[in-house]
Amino acid sequence: MNQKIKDLVEILKEKNIKPSYQRIKILEYLVLKKNHPTVDEIFKDLVKEMPTLSRATVYNTLDLFKRSELARVVTIEDNETRYDAEVSVHGHFKCENCGTIFDFPVDEKALYSDALKDFMITEKNVYFKGICPKCHNTNK
Ligand SMILES: [Zn+2]
Ligand SMILES: [Zn+2]
Repeated sequence: MNQKIKDLVEILKEKNIKPSYQRIKILEYLVLKKNHPTVDEIFKDLVKEMPTLSRATVYNTLDLFKRSELARVVTIEDNETRYDAEVSVHGHFKCENCGTIFDFPVDEKALYSDALKDFMITEKNVYFKGICPKCHNTNK
């Protein structure tokens, strides 16, 4: 086992998740690709090397990661759920041309509102949409 895989196993164990091969591969995919994939995208890529993998396993694993705070859900579009292994507060920008989702840092303090001081906040999302620099430049 190489070091990277060992680290992933440790991350899973810390969350009391049994580090099965499929779970390790799905976590690795999220951590390495950082592309905010959907269940389908992960399934299509990983089934090539794991023919016994099912969509339901991918879905259930991601749900488990979400509940264990190893991943967060990105719902920038109503009709698609994406997953992100970066669980710290950060914003997402979706390019409406190429569909790429970019991470950007946000100032957590700026996301505070006095009007919500008595509310318990469980999730904060910052979603921007527009055209990324690459698409903007090629369309000129
Ligand atoms: Zn773009
Ligand atoms: Zn992200």
